[in-house]
Amino acid sequence: MPITDAAKKQIAQQRKLFFKICFKCGGKNPISASRCRKCHGSQMRLKNRTLGAKK
Ligand SMILES: [Zn+2]
Repeated sequence: MPITDAAKKQIAQQRKLFFKICFKCGGKNPISASRCRKCHGSQMRLKNRTLGAKK
């Protein structure tokens, strides 16, 4: 089902792109997380891809 609402589409894209990746286990965590939910490591990197960069 394609999303026609531009605002909803934007939110969906942000949910998909804005999260943190744990350095240790590679787990996906919410952007607000300070520690990994899997291994509780504090080292996480942001995954903030610019839209349209996907090949
Ligand atoms: Zn982790």
